[in-house]
Amino acid sequence: MSDTDQAARDAGFDEWLDALADDDPYYLACPDGHGSLPPRRVCPVCGSQTLEQRPLPETGRLETYTITYIPTPSFAEDAPYATAIVDFGPVRLTGQVVDTDFEALEPGLEVTPAVTTTETTGNRLLVFRVR
Ligand SMILES: [Zn+2]
Repeated sequence: MSDTDQAARDAGFDEWLDALADDDPYYLACPDGHGSLPPRRVCPVCGSQTLEQRPLPETGRLETYTITYIPTPSFAEDAPYATAIVDFGPVRLTGQVVDTDFEALEPGLEVTPAVTTTETTGNRLLVFRVR
């Protein structure tokens, strides 16, 4: 991947984080209803290039999670943390679950997405909060 492609990808995801931070999150849907997220430009299931923005459901359900005690350097100050895959119906999102005890985490838990910054680098991050 070239630097230009990487920049385009980062910009696409940045815009998506902006929308989420503005309380206006969305996902991309092809005419057949397959869901995906920016920076994708083609449907990952059927290859359609006709993607339209639809509102992301307000809550998702925790599908699975892992707890990281020994992080990579860019998350050194954040550990330990839980990384979860959350099912929003048409799309799945991956992010950290914040403001909760790890003991409270279980599949099926209802969570809402939000944007925060990491303790270590200050980079923006997709997170989930338990409802
Ligand atoms: Zn599709």
